[in-house]
Amino acid sequence: MHKRRFVDDYLHLGHRRRLVNTLRTKGIQDKTVLDAMSSVPRHWFVEQPFEAIAYEDRALPIAASQTISQPYTVAFQTSLLRPAPRLKTLEVGTGSGYQAAVLGKLGMRVFTLERQEQLYAKTRKMLAAHRFGSIRCFLQDGYRGLPAYGPYDRILVTAGAPQVPETLLEQLTIGGVLVIPVGTGKQEMLRITRVGESDLQTERMGPARFVPFAEGIVKTKKTRGVLR
Ligand code: SAH
Repeated sequence: MHKRRFVDDYLHLGHRRRLVNTLRTKGIQDKTVLDAMSSVPRHWFVEQPFEAIAYEDRALPIAASQTISQPYTVAFQTSLLRPAPRLKTLEVGTGSGYQAAVLGKLGMRVFTLERQEQLYAKTRKMLAAHRFGSIRCFLQDGYRGLPAYGPYDRILVTAGAPQVPETLLEQLTIGGVLVIPVGTGKQEMLRITRVGESDLQTERMGPARFVPFAEGIVKTKKTRGVLR
């Protein structure tokens, strides 16, 4: 296999500027989010055959039958999260790492969980090789969260859960915000703010469509015997 070259030139920058304009016309107003998305080369996070269409506002397939979210969705979820530098942030569903890179660029301290070992391994390497800020990757079932480093100021789930997992709510600080798409069949984006120790405020933020929030870890199959 050829080693992939990660190039980012003025043409890519031009594509990104156009994409960010599209996001603005679609209603994204948070300038810090738009700036972060202007600076992260999304074409590095898509599979090579899709590089040429990396700056269209659409989801694209990645490994393990998953998807890199549509840019609008990344912008929307990130804005809902009320981002700010230094907030301790848990992302569930590392996938391509693009969303994590955007959060990292915003100066957030990112802990990101992935259940597919194949994606975890590839993305961890990719994120470590470039400077997107503070991002730590874990091969971990998001239903368990990451209690060892919690509680978190922000939790962002990028897979569709049947309901809000209690464990994630337990790992949210007071004043903390959880953004999560929820529902079987039809999904809905929820923003849940912990306003007190036992007091949650839920806002419904419209329809959503994500790959399933599935339970358990999926290990990479080892090739047995000798490859010829
Ligand atoms: N944020 C990603 C979106 C990837 S799609 C990006 O920017 O590319 C959602 C990801 O969530 C998939 O990679 C899927 O494997 C992962 N996922 C689903 N259920 C999970 C779980 N229980 N724990 C951790 N990751 C999970």
